[in-house]
Amino acid sequence: MNEQGYNYSFNPNACDSCGGNCCTGESGNIFVSLEEIQAISKHLKLSIDEFKKSYLTKVGYKFSLKEKMFEESHDCTFFDRKIQGCGIYLVRPIQCRTFPFWPYFKSHEDELEKECPGIIFNESKEKNV
Ligand code: SF4
Ligand code: SF4
Repeated sequence: MNEQGYNYSFNPNACDSCGGNCCTGESGNIFVSLEEIQAISKHLKLSIDEFKKSYLTKVGYKFSLKEKMFEESHDCTFFDRKIQGCGIYLVRPIQCRTFPFWPYFKSHEDELEKECPGIIFNESKEKNV
């Protein structure tokens, strides 16, 4: 899988054995839009208020998915360790759908390489760190 303007491609087959590195580990924000809040609430059969209370945290003027601790890992609240995958896969936020093609990683390729075993760097180009 490729995306124009990125120095790497992505092999989604790597997800089968990865164990969800991008949904666990270090603490971070997964921002959700109002449309995504509505879609996930509907999927979970919760009111928007119930959903916000249980699963969202306010970060500045935005909403992010909460985290839950598993040993030393800050798991996304929707990461399911039984299936080693996303518990709301069909309605996961755009931030998750677009990983690993985030503009941030264009200048932090080493960080991405450590996190995601599905990254294949283009041979002809130098890595941007
Ligand atoms: S870190 Fe990469 S390989 Fe692992 S689950 Fe996420 S996208 Fe898949
Ligand atoms: S919503 Fe799903 S894909 Fe996104 S970080 Fe959470 S568990 Fe991972």
